[in-house]
This record gives sequence, structure tokens and C-alpha cells, in this order.
Amino acid sequence: MGLRGPAPRPIVRIEALNGEVRNAKECTVCGIIKSLDSFHRTTSHSSGRATQCGSCYNERRRNYYREYNRTRRKQKGA
Ligand SMILES: [Zn+2]
Repeated sequence: MGLRGPAPRPIVRIEALNGEVRNAKECTVCGIIKSLDSFHRTTSHSSGRATQCGSCYNERRRNYYREYNRTRRKQKGA
């Protein structure tokens, strides 16, 4: 195992406005501390949660497909 990729952040506790305490952690991409619900479940990490939040995950996926479509269009030739 190397040092590839960002290290997962430790779980912290945050208190919501209604006083509810929830487990949260810092997203390694946007750096915002979000509740664990905001992170996708994954089996590739021992914590069981992705290191990036759902927003960043969607953003990255969107960018990926945009890039994918762009290169595909280019390859078709215009
Ligand atoms: Zn994020």
C-alpha cells in the first residue's frame, strides 16, 4: 500500500441546530465537514465511506462524462 490519494479524514461529531449530534468528517476534495450521510458508501475504504462528499462525487462524475463526450465528439471528426 502506497501513499496514493488523500488520506481519509477522521470521524468527528457535529451538533445540528436542533441539538442532534451526528458523525461527520471532512471531505478531502472541498474541505467542508459534512455528516456521514453526505458521503457515499463504499467498500474500497475501511471506513465504509468515500473520502469525498456526494457533491464532489457528482461533480467529478459530471466532469468525467463531459470530458468523455467531448473527446468522443472530437474523435468522430468535424
Ligand atoms: Zn466535497
